[in-house]
Amino acid sequence: MASLVGSDTQLNQTSYYEASVQRPEALPPLQEALQADVVVVGAGFSGLSAALELAQRGLGVVVLEADRIGSGASGRNGGQAIVGFASGQGPFEEQLGAADAQRAWDMSLEAIDLIDARIAQHSIECDRVHGYVYVADSARKQRALREEMEDLRQRGIEVDWAEGADVPRLINSPRYVAAAREQRSGHLHPLKYALGLARAAQAAGVRIFEHSPVTGLQRGATLVASTAQGQVTARFAVLAGNCMLPEHGPRVAPEIAPRIMPVGTYIVGTAPLDPGLCARLIPRNAAVCDNNFVLDYFRFSADHRMLFGGRVSYTTRTPARLSALMARRMGEVFPALAQTPIDFVWGGFVDISMNRAPDFGRLGDNVYYLQGFSGHGVALTGLAGQLVADAVAGQAGRFDVFARLRHHRFPGGPLLRTPSLALGMLWHRWRDVL
Ligand SMILES: Cc1cc2nc3c(=O)[nH]c(=O)nc-3n(C[C@H](O)[C@H](O)[C@H](O)COP(=O)(O)OP(=O)(O)OC[C@H]3O[C@@H](n4cnc5c(N)ncnc54)[C@H](O)[C@@H]3O)c2cc1C
Repeated sequence: MASLVGSDTQLNQTSYYEASVQRPEALPPLQEALQADVVVVGAGFSGLSAALELAQRGLGVVVLEADRIGSGASGRNGGQAIVGFASGQGPFEEQLGAADAQRAWDMSLEAIDLIDARIAQHSIECDRVHGYVYVADSARKQRALREEMEDLRQRGIEVDWAEGADVPRLINSPRYVAAAREQRSGHLHPLKYALGLARAAQAAGVRIFEHSPVTGLQRGATLVASTAQGQVTARFAVLAGNCMLPEHGPRVAPEIAPRIMPVGTYIVGTAPLDPGLCARLIPRNAAVCDNNFVLDYFRFSADHRMLFGGRVSYTTRTPARLSALMARRMGEVFPALAQTPIDFVWGGFVDISMNRAPDFGRLGDNVYYLQGFSGHGVALTGLAGQLVADAVAGQAGRFDVFARLRHHRFPGGPLLRTPSLALGMLWHRWRDVL
């Protein structure tokens, strides 16, 4: 099986996002021994959000990033900021009861507002758009979508429903039998947002080191995070390394690795399109997602490219003929795009937890971890950083709503969990075509 780090790096080489930002010069790797209140491992949305919030509470923060800021899932995703959780409310209601499940839901809405507040406060230019369309491609999925939308309505979200001949009002595709639009969710350019968060964190006093994988974490009342050429001594640590944490630092926190599964997902970016065509295909520029188990998710970029995401891989291998497969899928959704040239193809690994609810918690008293966003991380990571900062500062109530959720390990250990999951997923994929 190919190494996860190798596949992951290769998958980011032709990303539209990397091609559409001007990255600042690389920050030097850690080459000294530093003291801090908090050491954060990973400079994706979770780590950057935590670092910013901790610094805003007056704490001294060092962020250690194995690669570059936002080079993980945060700088490559579909950019879709979505209300709620990939798991739905089920695990929250079953495990925590109605009141805390409601708190969790309310926090998921806060997570969306937090994005907008940060964009405004730190002047982050990241092509932010509000509006989201959910689509269904069969009668069975239409029933499921209707139930889901009814639930959203009961939770106070306004939903515009369309079915049959009314669907083109929301999306102009022959594929869908029903569609629903809401205005809370939406989209953004994720790498621009990650770089903006990093600038805000640095302005608040956070020291960030790139190309500095953490290979060891000595635990105890005082923690020592070590890299190849340096170390950081701190009172607290936040582990925000996502799927690559066990790859870069297998000894850092081996106990949390089996609770998430890295699942590959991919996006193609077309050549720029006529803005009039874009407006006809997806009126009012919403982000779109279907409700299949292996979902298609797509939207237009600010420069009118279709960014079409989908497919998955439950092994570390990138699927063969990826670009052609994705283009075909896109052509089925929008026949008008069937011949459109593909300029970019990239992908990455999503951190899926077994029940698809986020997995936040502590190891001992002073090592916090954030993972398991299960494809809803664009919004929830920002919230996670805020909650962890509150917990470090002594206000753990909201963090603990999530930390009380129980999570199972994926069966089979590192060698078997991928194939056994792949088998399970085949069944779901088969059901999706019915
Ligand atoms: C292709 C794709 C599409 C997606 N689409 C969406 C979407 O549309 N909407 C949505 O909500 N979510 C989506 N997601 C998921 C979302 O991107 C993630 O949930 C989110 O970005 C996770 O952020 P993070 O900060 O936890 O992890 P990451 O962004 O992966 O950051 C972790 C960082 O930690 C670093 N690191 C790891 N180990 C170490 C170590 N030992 N030492 C130092 N640094 C380390 C990594 O290099 C990395 O930069 C998608 C993901 C992918 C891959």
